[in-house]
Amino acid sequence: MSVPVLILVTRPLDDESEGSTDARPAPFSQADPALPHLSVLDLGATRGDGVFETVMVAEGAAPAIDAHLDRFAASAKLLDLPEPNREVWRAAFDAAVAAHPPVELLAVKLVLTRGIEGQDAPTGWILAQPGRDFSRERVEGVRVVTLDRGYRHDVAATSPWLLQGAKTLSYAVNTAAIREAKRRGAHDVIFTSSDGFVLEAPTASVLLREGDRFTTPSAELGILPGTTQRRAFALLEELGYETGSVRLRSSELGRADALWLVSSIRRAVPVVELDGVAKAVDRELTARLNEYLGEH
Ligand code: PLP
Repeated sequence: MSVPVLILVTRPLDDESEGSTDARPAPFSQADPALPHLSVLDLGATRGDGVFETVMVAEGAAPAIDAHLDRFAASAKLLDLPEPNREVWRAAFDAAVAAHPPVELLAVKLVLTRGIEGQDAPTGWILAQPGRDFSRERVEGVRVVTLDRGYRHDVAATSPWLLQGAKTLSYAVNTAAIREAKRRGAHDVIFTSSDGFVLEAPTASVLLREGDRFTTPSAELGILPGTTQRRAFALLEELGYETGSVRLRSSELGRADALWLVSSIRRAVPVVELDGVAKAVDRELTARLNEYLGEH
């Protein structure tokens, strides 16, 4: 087992304080992941109050790092956290990748929490470790059930305090939904809104094919704008297909010619069964998508 690389981001925010920059401690430093670093009082641990990103690094390259840093800042803003210092996080990310022994696939997690209650000092760190191998799922696909997330499609506009569309550390609901899928004999979930629109999977975006048109649910539905979905669309457009972000009724999922779950580490996994009904799989296109997503 390889040892993860831990970088503590000691100056995670834009620091406009006066004084000599030379006297200040480095904005980040590598630390021993086997030693304790996080306080039991940290609001990230006690309340899941913080944001994160998981970035894929394949053969040393991170094609979506800018999109992840954009989403990291957008999530922080939704939580009223101060803006992360982009240059510091980018340099700390590069340092984490450089410090890890070369592997085919590295999963690099960036975390920013609200810090210790009352101290007004967010906590930041980066952890780099080998990514889970999804090669079997990419070929064999996954069985998926639809589950109602319980919010209307316009929740992001009506109730922004519910933080839909932010990548927060509170993934207890997401993992509970996956356990529910397993109880129902499936592997994964596609969430729907309480008023019947297709949303996203607990840790992935949804991609649909109808003929020569590929669509994904619009980020306006209070879901995460997926970085992998965006890269997948770039390839599909290159191949001459039409793409679009849309509002889809859950009944349209059944009508789709093919469905995929896409995310940074898993890339594109075909849905082979939806709510107990078999779905066709385009193996050639799935392989092409996965090849592209490993490189771009
Ligand atoms: N939606 C949710 C809820 C997620 O957690 C993720 C990734 O973890 C995604 C979508 C896909 O995002 P990305 O393609 O940027 O990994």
